Amino acid sequence: MDQQRLVERYERVRSSVPARVKLIAVSKTRSVEEIHALYALGQRAFGENYPQELRAKAPLLPPDIEWHFIGHLQRSNVKHVAGLAQLIHGVDSERLMDELSKRARAQGRTQDILLQVHIAQEDTKHGFTPDELRALMEGSDMAAKWPGLRIRGLMGMATNTPDRARISGEFAGLAHLFNDIVASRVFPDRSFTELSMGMTGDMDLAIAAGSTMVRVGTAIFGERG
Ligand SMILES: *Cc1c(COP(=O)(O)O)cnc(C)c1O
Repeated sequence: MDQQRLVERYERVRSSVPARVKLIAVSKTRSVEEIHALYALGQRAFGENYPQELRAKAPLLPPDIEWHFIGHLQRSNVKHVAGLAQLIHGVDSERLMDELSKRARAQGRTQDILLQVHIAQEDTKHGFTPDELRALMEGSDMAAKWPGLRIRGLMGMATNTPDRARISGEFAGLAHLFNDIVASRVFPDRSFTELSMGMTGDMDLAIAAGSTMVRVGTAIFGERG
């Protein structure tokens, strides 16, 4: 690990993220040592994609790290993530919400989640379609249906394309949906505040479109091996 390179990259990323946007350092496949080095520079929010990896690394790192689960979560893996991740970003089905709610209640705690919205023109990205999401919000009393879950906002991934106008359009669409939900007062307690969008290749566009959380790996740690 090249400590000086890490410092330089981190400073560069930090300076491009406004104070109102939370920077989540995506540490999937990175060693405990690398995470520690970034922690020593002041970073506290880290994102992991794989339940077993999160479970293995978290106990070896300082307890004040805020873990974000940003991967695709299967119901069978909820038990590995529940209680460990402060925020689960990629919640993409009602059945997964059922399972998360059940776990949270059994453990007597509240689990914060983001609902993932499918905005990309790709079959490989998970999430509710905007129409499904609107139907969900209009059709259910969320708090009654999923006790123990607190829906904090939305998450989305843009198409992996060099077409920046297309990416901006997708982020704008997601931001519009997010703002509609905020304005609709489906969540009168005002806990619906987060819009997780933007990664190394498109964080500037996401921030311009109204992101409140960016998930950045490569720009901080370098290319994944
Ligand atoms: C890996 C990953 C990231 C970070 O990607 P980089 O291009 O390395 O910044 C962000 N979000 C999700 C969901 C990821 O899986």
